[in-house]
Amino acid sequence: MVATPIGNLGDITLRSIRVLEACDGVACEDTRVTGKLLKHLNISKPLWRYNDHSDTKDRKRLVESMATRAVVLVSDAGTPLVSDPGYRLVADARAAGVMVTSLPGPCAAIAGLTLSGLPNDRFLFAGFLPAKEKGRHDALGDLAAVDATLVFYETAPRLIRSLEAVATVLPKRSVAIARELTKLHEECRTGSPGALIEHYAAHPPKGEIVLLIAPPTGTLTEDVDTDAMLREALTEMKPSQAAGLVAKASGKDRKTLYARALELRSS
Ligand code: SAM
Repeated sequence: MVATPIGNLGDITLRSIRVLEACDGVACEDTRVTGKLLKHLNISKPLWRYNDHSDTKDRKRLVESMATRAVVLVSDAGTPLVSDPGYRLVADARAAGVMVTSLPGPCAAIAGLTLSGLPNDRFLFAGFLPAKEKGRHDALGDLAAVDATLVFYETAPRLIRSLEAVATVLPKRSVAIARELTKLHEECRTGSPGALIEHYAAHPPKGEIVLLIAPPTGTLTEDVDTDAMLREALTEMKPSQAAGLVAKASGKDRKTLYARALELRSS
């Protein structure tokens, strides 16, 4: 596996270039994207399209060919397998006794984490948040008690909706938005979910994004305003669902929260 640039084409290691020059062919997500990178590096190699949904037979054939060919796996950008195809190929190749190795390099999650200024002694990378609102709320609720910085991949069109979910489920957390990393318009903006919603509503974001959420500080629940969370949740869901969501996010008792949600709804 060879990690490739996530924007700035200078971000490829000397060893990665040597391995790409020496290999017999490159398995990639999109031959046009990888073709451009190889052209930039003055390297010409056969390109084979691969993703984890590829036919099992195609994967088997690719693994079998590794008995006599040195195959490089790349993704469109960054580190293969990190929210990108490859884990089935790696698992099958290792099971077949093929020597597999990983050449480290760019990874948006790590670049975003290091730039964010959020605690990085413990972090949890959780890929993309679900596309549907309930899924997003549930996913954040499930991660609410994790004592680590949470790292997500995000897209520009969905950023505000994801921030709204953070504002509902984890309203007290600091959030960082790392955008267009290693590119001309790189920016990293930190603030409360509410402040970031305001900013991006006024300046619609473009490009690629990593969304990071600070860990719960000290005691998770004491300073959490569960009334505010319930009020916000009640604008979108029934009291029982709101109580469940806030219970997950705050660690407080679901029955008490349900009783309070009923009071708030009728007040
Ligand atoms: N495997 C890649 C890696 O190692 O970073 C990630 C692939 S994933 C399909 C694509 C997502 O990574 C984008 O939607 C975005 O969230 C993030 N990403 C990739 N490049 C980025 C960049 N230059 N700046 C910010 N985020 C980036």
